[in-house]
Amino acid sequence: MNLEAWVPRALITGITGQDGAYLAEFLLGKGYEVWGMARRSSTGGLHLDRLEWLGVLDRVNIVEGDIADMSSIMRIISECQPHEVYNLAAQSFVATSWQQPHLTADVTGVGVLNVLEALRILKSEARFYQASSSEMFGLIQHQEQSETTPFYPRSPYAVAKLYGHWITVNYRESFGMHASSGILFNHESPLRGEEFVTRKVTAGVAKIKLGLEKEIRLGNIHAKRDWGHARDYVRAMWLMLQQETADDYVVATGRTWTVEHMLNIAFDHAGLKVADHLVIDPALFRPAEVDVLLGKPDKAIANLGWKPTISLEAMICEMVDADIARLKRRMRA
Ligand code: NDP
Ligand code: GDP
Repeated sequence: MNLEAWVPRALITGITGQDGAYLAEFLLGKGYEVWGMARRSSTGGLHLDRLEWLGVLDRVNIVEGDIADMSSIMRIISECQPHEVYNLAAQSFVATSWQQPHLTADVTGVGVLNVLEALRILKSEARFYQASSSEMFGLIQHQEQSETTPFYPRSPYAVAKLYGHWITVNYRESFGMHASSGILFNHESPLRGEEFVTRKVTAGVAKIKLGLEKEIRLGNIHAKRDWGHARDYVRAMWLMLQQETADDYVVATGRTWTVEHMLNIAFDHAGLKVADHLVIDPALFRPAEVDVLLGKPDKAIANLGWKPTISLEAMICEMVDADIARLKRRMRA
């Protein structure tokens, strides 16, 4: 009789990103063996800073691959034999998707098909999570967006995500795969990429506070987003894969705020005045905007027993503090 405890194994694509790092930390905490796919770059090798920041780098098994390269995905799945696959890899920045629409389609859209096909061809029984996005609602068709709200994407990114969402649904329906799509609304943290508006603001506030910069340049500050914390949202991903049946879930806080409101929280927290430092830059407006997003997470609350625990204010203050601490460390070095 084998007395060794069974250890669940998870494979995360996009493990070097914000969500990948928090999900790795979360799954390690649950006793998983965690594998992550990362791609090489010529400058910094693999991008492992976030995993390092959370102190989990030496506990994950990093394997080299690219979501656009099906052979690398097949090799990794064959080696890892995962019980759960979390597909987080994407070209994830909306503004860039107008500059690199083909790459966004290949990575953010067809990349999802690559993972699903690899699982199907290899006859893997792994449960699959797809990182879908509230950006798919775009030009919103209902005031509050739920799993049944029609989609209306407004960027090449959102169009690619829509493909990823529907191919996930299709593989579930065609092949009976346990494939779930999490339609996550914006979620942030101190590990958010600096190009996204919350982190751009908190990093900018830190630089102004420490006298390194005088202004912060933004585009449309009247856009509204339903912002949650990445730590809360990776828990929802895991919960989806623990369900008997795969399904699609909206994950959101159910509250929406303007960029301007978020900006005020960050500046107030640092004891600064927005009016002294903000410059509105028309070049930062988007060719097509998503004016407002507001999620209705009732299904996730009812079926998954999930709920958000971190407020926008607490999250933005955490991000400002983390950026100030990071900058101080860099200035001392
Ligand atoms: P990040 O941009 O922080 O991370 C994206 C990850 O994808 C990185 O690990 C990146 O690697 C990897 N990646 C990019 N291109 C490739 C490629 N060709 N092959 C392999 N890996 C690649 O995104 P988040 O962590 O914030 O988001 C995770 C997922 O959730 C994404 O799919 C995103 O679109 C989606 N999403 C995010 C939301 C949010 O508010 N954060 C909301 C809804 C959906 P590298 O480090 O090398 O660049
Ligand atoms: P998105 O919802 O995935 O596009 O997340 P972002 O954080 O990139 O953008 C959120 C909103 O902030 C969008 O409506 C942007 O138009 C708006 N915004 C205003 N100024 C900026 C800016 O300078 N950078 C970014 N990234 N967004 C901005």
